[in-house]
Amino acid sequence: FGETITADMIDDLALKHFPLCMRNLHDRLRKDRHLKHFGRLQYTLFLKALGVSVEEAVVFWRKAYGGTMTDDKFNKEYKYNIRHSYGLEGKRANYPAKSCQTILTSNQPGPTESHGCPFRHFSPDNLQLTLSATFGIPAAEQTEIMAAVKGQHYHIACTRVFELTHAKYGVKKGEGLGTANGATETVSHPNRYAARSRELEK
Ligand code: SF4
Repeated sequence: FGETITADMIDDLALKHFPLCMRNLHDRLRKDRHLKHFGRLQYTLFLKALGVSVEEAVVFWRKAYGGTMTDDKFNKEYKYNIRHSYGLEGKRANYPAKSCQTILTSNQPGPTESHGCPFRHFSPDNLQLTLSATFGIPAAEQTEIMAAVKGQHYHIACTRVFELTHAKYGVKKGEGLGTANGATETVSHPNRYAARSRELEK
């Protein structure tokens, strides 16, 4: 997309373009003013791949925690971890954003954690409530999504949510993130979901 994403643009982007896993982390962060370690990591790497610079990431997280911690604590413990995720501290590795496959299979979230994939890690009741509250998906449309979840086809469920929430751009059932050479692209990476959503808005 080429443009700079500033910290204060992230609320709007989350609302319009983020898949459920990242929207859940964003909403939890806004509500609790905190995320646990794996949630911060999953979200920081996603924001990095989205195009948020390390400077803006530091501003974003500092503001998000607000008065829940001192500047001193933030700078010593949290800023280091953000910079680490950007490959600027420690062994300076270029950590990629996590794919759906990695999110689905590694570091299973405990009851007080918010990382992971909601399609896999939420209880069916909580998932249905969240689909209504977050995306306004009516009960009639949820039947099919929940059937995909039950069959452990989490990416199919997520792709169907993409289609429903992008119907306003003309996306139809079965079209997924788009079709090329007769093949339909399904959701395999949260950043791909967000990128396609942003393309459609243009
Ligand atoms: Fe996120 Fe992938 Fe799960 Fe969708 S299927 S919510 S993009 S981890």
